[in-house]
Amino acid sequence: MRGIVVAGNWKMNRDVRAAAELLRDIASGLAAEAPHSSVTAVVCPPFPSLALASELLIGSPLRLGAQNLHFENDGAFTGEVSASMLRAAGCDFVIVGHSERRQFFHEDDAIVNRKARKALEHGLTPIICVGETLEQREAGSTEAVVRTQIHGAFEGFSREQAAAVMIAYEPVWAIGTGRTATPAQAQEVHAFIRALTSELYDSDLAAAMIIQYGGSMKPDNAFELLSQADVDGGLIGGASIIAGQFLSILASANRAALAKHQA
Ligand code: PEP
Repeated sequence: MRGIVVAGNWKMNRDVRAAAELLRDIASGLAAEAPHSSVTAVVCPPFPSLALASELLIGSPLRLGAQNLHFENDGAFTGEVSASMLRAAGCDFVIVGHSERRQFFHEDDAIVNRKARKALEHGLTPIICVGETLEQREAGSTEAVVRTQIHGAFEGFSREQAAAVMIAYEPVWAIGTGRTATPAQAQEVHAFIRALTSELYDSDLAAAMIIQYGGSMKPDNAFELLSQADVDGGLIGGASIIAGQFLSILASANRAALAKHQA
């Protein structure tokens, strides 16, 4: 049975002091209402706060992730951060190929593949983001776009590598816009992605693959989205930097996990 993974992508928000405050608020909320045993909660603060975050989170079920990494081990790559640095700072997860990185930093599927490969080499779980723009959806090419992105991201991956990856379906038109995919729209693409991973590997791998939804997931829509059969979590932007909202989404994840286990 797949679990539910809810990850907060803080983007370029919260300096070290504000990050510490937010982490304390989230961690104390979780101490009051612990995540269901099959729910994993992850926070992805900006790089400068990672090391402190990992100290603050000792003893908390909250896990740590980063928002990006470089695909080389080390060297003359000014401004970049390596997978081993993220591991040393306490990260278990790293977001790869977020649409903002694709749009503003020109990351293509080949770069996403190299980054995910490097993350895996160092024991980080890459959360590989895919999703179509509004134009692409309206042109009816959502599946073609997602297929190309998944094929590119997994290019050359062994079964073992692929099994250690998570996917986030994030329709670009829903990110930061307040416009959310309907639960039915999300379910449709998630089922398509699962079928695609089955085609690429096998049905056991596909059945175990965590596929998160991202795009304006909020306290008022989280439960319905997370209750969909193929939606295994959320990648949360805006609502993840407000402790009460993130905690409320985690409470919805608990309820959805319970319902899925009882089904
Ligand atoms: C994201 O950035 O991954 C995201 C889903 O953002 P938001 O929740 O703000 O739409």
